[in-house]
Amino acid sequence: MNRSTVIVIGAGIIGLSCALRIRQAGLEVTVLEQGAVGKEASWAGGGILSPLHPWRYQPALLALAREGMLRYAAFSQEIFQASTIDPEYLASGLLVLDSPTSPIPEDSVSWGRSWGWNWRNVTAAELAEIAPQLQGERAIYCPEVAQVRNPRLLAGLRAYLQALGVAIQEEVRIDTIIPRAGHVILQVGNKIWEAQKVVVSAGAWTADLLASLGRKLPIAPVRGQIILLAGEPGTLPVPVLQGNHYLVQRRDGQVLVGSTTELVAFDKGTTTAAREELLSFSHRVFPPSRSYPILRQWSGLRPGSPENIPMIGYLPGMENILVAAGHFRYGLTTAPITAEIITDLVLGRQAKMDISPYSLPK
Ligand SMILES: Cc1cc2nc3c(=O)[nH]c(=O)nc-3n(C[C@H](O)[C@H](O)[C@H](O)COP(=O)(O)OP(=O)(O)OC[C@H]3O[C@@H](n4cnc5c(N)ncnc54)[C@H](O)[C@@H]3O)c2cc1C
Repeated sequence: MNRSTVIVIGAGIIGLSCALRIRQAGLEVTVLEQGAVGKEASWAGGGILSPLHPWRYQPALLALAREGMLRYAAFSQEIFQASTIDPEYLASGLLVLDSPTSPIPEDSVSWGRSWGWNWRNVTAAELAEIAPQLQGERAIYCPEVAQVRNPRLLAGLRAYLQALGVAIQEEVRIDTIIPRAGHVILQVGNKIWEAQKVVVSAGAWTADLLASLGRKLPIAPVRGQIILLAGEPGTLPVPVLQGNHYLVQRRDGQVLVGSTTELVAFDKGTTTAAREELLSFSHRVFPPSRSYPILRQWSGLRPGSPENIPMIGYLPGMENILVAAGHFRYGLTTAPITAEIITDLVLGRQAKMDISPYSLPK
C-alpha cells in the first residue's frame, strides 16, 4: 500500500500545476501518470496564452482565461528560476487577421476593452510595419496575449516538483477509484494507493476514469494537429491568427502552424489532409514559410467540454475527490488559476473567484 496526503491523477499541465500549489501549501503530494509526464495534450499545444477569438466564448471561460493570463509571467518566471529550464515566455501580443470566412466583428476593439484588454485596430500599413512579410488587410492587435514553449514549461515544472519533494510515478494507469470514509483508494491491478484527497486531472481520459464511479462527465477527446517548420529567427515577431489557424514563431525561428479540430475518439494519428490544410494556410498568410522545411507533425487530444468551460471542484456527493478537467482548447492558459482554485478547495478555503460556473454536474 502506498500512502500520500494528496494524489493527483494525470501529469499534464493541469495536474502538475495543481501538485505544485498543493505542495507549496505544505501537503504531501504524489502524482500518478499512465504514460510519461507531460507528453499528452499539454505537450502538443501551441502555447498561445489566450482564448482565440475571445468574443466567441462565454464569460465563464473568459473570466478564467483572464485570471490565467494575469498570472502567467510570474508563473513561468517562478518555474524558470526553480528549474533553470527557460519556458520562453514571451509577451508577444497576437495579431488577429480578418477574413471573409471568419470576419472580425466591427465592435471587437470596444468589446475587448470591456474585458480590460487594450486591443486596437491595425491597418494594412501598420501591419506591414509590425510584420512586413504577412499578407493581410485588416487586423486587430491584442497586446496582452503572450506565448510559452509548453514542452519546456512542462519539463521545468517536473524538475521543480521533484525538487519540492513531490513523488511522480509514471506508467501507472489508475483504473479504479474507491471512495471510503475520510480517504480514497486507487487501484491498478493488484497495486493500491491511498490518499486523503484525490485530484482527477486526467485530461481527455477523465470521463472514462470517472465512469468507474458511475459518473458521466461531458468530457471527450478532440484531436488537434500541428506542423512545425524550420524558420529563420525573428521573421514573425508576433503570432498570427486567422479563422481556425495560427502561426507562432519560437525563439530559435521554428514556426508552429496549428491547428485542426477533429472528433476521432482517442486516435492520435496525423493525416496528409491536415498537413496540406495547415501548409496552405501558412504559405498564403506568411509567404516566406514556402521555403521552410517541415520538421515534424503531431497531434494531441484536447479534453473537450461543452462551451470550452472546464470542470473544477469536488465531485458532487464525494468529500475527497476533486476534478480539474475539460480545459479543452485553453488548458495551458488557465492552468495557474485552476491550480489555485483546486488548492483552496483542498485546504477548505474560499476560492479567489466565483467558481460556480465550473462546478461538476450532479
Ligand atoms: C493541437 C493543440 C493545440 C493547443 N493549443 C493551445 C494553446 O495554444 N493554448 C492553450 O491554452 N491550450 C492549448 N491547447 C489545449 C491544452 O493543451 C489542453 O487544454 C491542456 O493540455 C489540458 O491539460 P490536461 O493536463 O488536462 O491534459 P493532458 O495534458 O492530456 O494531461 C492529462 C494526463 O492524464 C494522464 N492520464 C489519463 N488517464 C489516466 C489514468 N487513468 N491514470 C493515470 N494517468 C492518466 C494522461 O496520460 C495525461 O498525461 C492545445 C491543445 C492541442 C491538442
